[in-house]
Amino acid sequence: MMVLTKKMIEIRTILQKVGQSSTLTLPSIVVIGSQSSGKSSVLEAIVGHEFLPKGSNMVTRRPIELTLVNTPGSAEEYGEFPDLGLKHITDFTSIQRTLTDLNLAVPDSECVSHEPIQLTVYSPNVPDLSLIDLPGYIQVVGQHQPLQLKQKISELCDKYIQAPNVILAISAADVDLANSTALRASRRVDPRGERTIGVVTKMDLVDAVRGAAILNDKQYPLRLGYVGVVSRAPQSQGLFKIGTSNLLATITKNENSFFSSHPMEYGPEAGVNVGTTTLRKKLMHVLEQTMSSSLQTTSDAIRQELEEAAYEFKVQYNDRPLSAESYLAESLDALKHSFKQLTEEFGRPQMHKLLKDELDQKVLDLLAARYWNKPITDLLPPHPETDRITDLPKAGTDSLYWRRQLDASSSALTKLGVGRLATTVVATAIQDNVESLLDQSSFSNHPFARSAVMDAASTILNERFYSTSDQVENCIKPYKFEIDVEEREWAQGRQYVSNVLKKELGDCESALIALETTVGGRRKLRDVMAFIDKARKGDLIVEGDGRSGAGGFSAALLSKGREAVFLRDRADIIKLRLMAVKSKQCANLKNKYQCPEVFLDVAASKLASTAVLFLNVELLSEFYYNFPRELDLRLGKHLSDADIEKFAKEDPKIRRHLEVIRKKELLELVLEKMESLKQLEGLERERLPSN
Ligand code: GDP
Repeated sequence: MMVLTKKMIEIRTILQKVGQSSTLTLPSIVVIGSQSSGKSSVLEAIVGHEFLPKGSNMVTRRPIELTLVNTPGSAEEYGEFPDLGLKHITDFTSIQRTLTDLNLAVPDSECVSHEPIQLTVYSPNVPDLSLIDLPGYIQVVGQHQPLQLKQKISELCDKYIQAPNVILAISAADVDLANSTALRASRRVDPRGERTIGVVTKMDLVDAVRGAAILNDKQYPLRLGYVGVVSRAPQSQGLFKIGTSNLLATITKNENSFFSSHPMEYGPEAGVNVGTTTLRKKLMHVLEQTMSSSLQTTSDAIRQELEEAAYEFKVQYNDRPLSAESYLAESLDALKHSFKQLTEEFGRPQMHKLLKDELDQKVLDLLAARYWNKPITDLLPPHPETDRITDLPKAGTDSLYWRRQLDASSSALTKLGVGRLATTVVATAIQDNVESLLDQSSFSNHPFARSAVMDAASTILNERFYSTSDQVENCIKPYKFEIDVEEREWAQGRQYVSNVLKKELGDCESALIALETTVGGRRKLRDVMAFIDKARKGDLIVEGDGRSGAGGFSAALLSKGREAVFLRDRADIIKLRLMAVKSKQCANLKNKYQCPEVFLDVAASKLASTAVLFLNVELLSEFYYNFPRELDLRLGKHLSDADIEKFAKEDPKIRRHLEVIRKKELLELVLEKMESLKQLEGLERERLPSN
C-alpha cells in the first residue's frame, strides 16, 4: 500500500503553512529536459489533462510545484492554487490560463524566477505524487532572449536537482543520448545514477531496434532505469480535440498498440520498460522508497526546527500563550479598564473648567469690542506729558450709556449659542480623551481597531449632540433676560477675573517680546512704533506705496510695528482695567456698570455651571454608559476569525509572537505524524521478511 507518499504529501502541505522561514523540504520528483524534448507531454499524460502553458516564447519561467492527490471514491477532478487562494478549479483550460499568466508575469529582463508556483490536482485518476516542473534547457539563445537566459535556467535547475529529490531526466529518442542536456545535468549531481529515472520520449520516431538499444543503454547506466514513452496523442484524431478527461486513456491505447506491434523489441521478453502506465507506477514506487528512506533525516530536521521555535518562544515570549482572540479580548479589557478610570477623572469640575475657559475668551473678546476699543480717551484724558493713560476711568455711575453697554454685552454673551458651544467643547474633550487612551493602549498599533474605537465614540456623541445642545440652550434661557448676582458671586468673580486679566496681560507682553526678536531688536521695534504713533496722531499715511513702506521702514516692518502698537495699547488698557477691578469701586456690586469685567465673568460662570448640569446628564453619563457597550459591539464576538487574525497581526510584535506559536504547534503536529509513520514503516519492515 502506497500510504507513505500520501501521508508525506499531507505533511508537506502542513509544512508549507509554516512559511518561508522553514527550510524543511520533503523529497519530490524534479522534471528536467531540454525544450521540445516532450517534457510537458509526459507530465500531462501522467495527470491525464492538458494543463501546462504552451507556446514558443519560453513559457515556463517559474518552477511549478505540482502536487497530485489521489481521491478514490470521488469522480471529481480539480485543481487548486493554494498560494493564490484559488480553489476548486474544475476547468483545466482555466488552470492552463492561470499558469500561463503567472509565467508571463515574470519580466523578460529577469528571464526566470526562482519563486515556485504551487498547484495541487485532486483526482481519482492520479497517483499520489509530488512533481516539480522546471523551465526547459535551451541550446541556443533566441533572437529576442537575453544572453544570460541559458545560464539562469541551468542555475535554477541545479537548485532543484539536489538530493534527496528524484530526477526525472527527459530525453527524446530522436536525439543521441550523449547529447541529452537532462542526462548531463543529472550526472553532475548524481554521478552514480542512483536517483535518476531516464524517460525517453518520442519512441515512435525511431525504429524499434534502435529504440530498444536506447532503453538498454549501457553508456549512461541508471539504477532506476529508463522508460520509453510515446506521450503525444495520435494525430489521426484530426480536427477533433481529444476530450481532456480521457487523455491518459488515449495515450495509453496509442502506446499499447505501438509497443505491441514490436513484440521482439518491446515485449515482456525484451526486458525493457515502456509506456506511460509503467512510468507512473515507477514514479510512485520510487517516490515512496525515497520518502521512506528520508523519513529519519526529515524528522530530525523537523525536530531541530521545532527546538528552535520552542527556544524562541521561551526566550522571546517567556512561553506566554497567545491567540488572536485572547489578544483582542485582553486589549479590549485593558481599554475598558482605563476608560473606567477616565470616567472617575473626567466629570463635572473638569467640564466646568473647560467651558469656563472657553467663555473667558469670549468675554475678553466682548470687552475688547465694547469697552477697550475707544474708551481710552472717552474714559479719561491722557497724561499731559507722557501722552499715556495712567489713571482709572471715572465715568459717571448713572450714565445711561454705560448701562446700555453692559446690557448689550451680557446679552451678546448669553446669546452667542452657548448650547452648541458647550456641547462642542465637551464632545471634543471626550473624543480627545478617548484618543489619548487609545494612544496608551495596545490598540495604538492597530489602525483597524483604532478607527473602530474612534467611530464608536463619535457615533454616540453625534447621536446625542443636537438634543444636548438644544437642552443646554433651553436651560440657560432665563439668563438672556436677567442675571441676578449675589455678593458672594461678585467677590468670587472679581477675584477670578483679575487672574484672567493678569494672564492676558502676560500673554500680550510675551507676544511683544517675541515681536522684538522677530524684527531684530527692541530698538528697531521702538523706532517703527514711534513712527506709527506719530503718523497716527498727525494723520500721516503710513501705508507707503505698498511694497516699499514709508518713513524709511519696509512694509513688513511697518506691519510688525502696527501689531506691536496694538499689543502695547492692549497691555496698557488691561493694566488700567486690572487696577479698576482691584479698586474699591469694583468691590461693590452696586458699581457693576463701572466693572463690566467682573459682571461678565459672573455671568459666564453662571452659564457654565448651568450648562454643565445638563451636559453631565445628557452627554457625559450617556457616553460613559454606552461607550463600553458600543466597543463590545464593534470589537467583540461578532468579528470574524479572519478579522480577528488580521487585527492581531497588524502589530508586528504580536504577529511574530503568534507566528512562533503557530509554527511550534504545526511542527509538533507534523512530528507526531512523522513518528507514527515511522512506526508504521517499522511494522511494515518487520512484516515483510517473514512473508
Ligand atoms: P517540451 O517543450 O519539452 O515541454 O515538449 P512538448 O511536450 O511540448 O513536445 C514538443 C513537441 O514534441 C510537441 O510538438 C509534441 O507534440 C511533440 N511530442 C511530444 N511527445 C511526443 C512523442 O512521444 N512522439 C512524437 N512524435 N511527438 C511528440
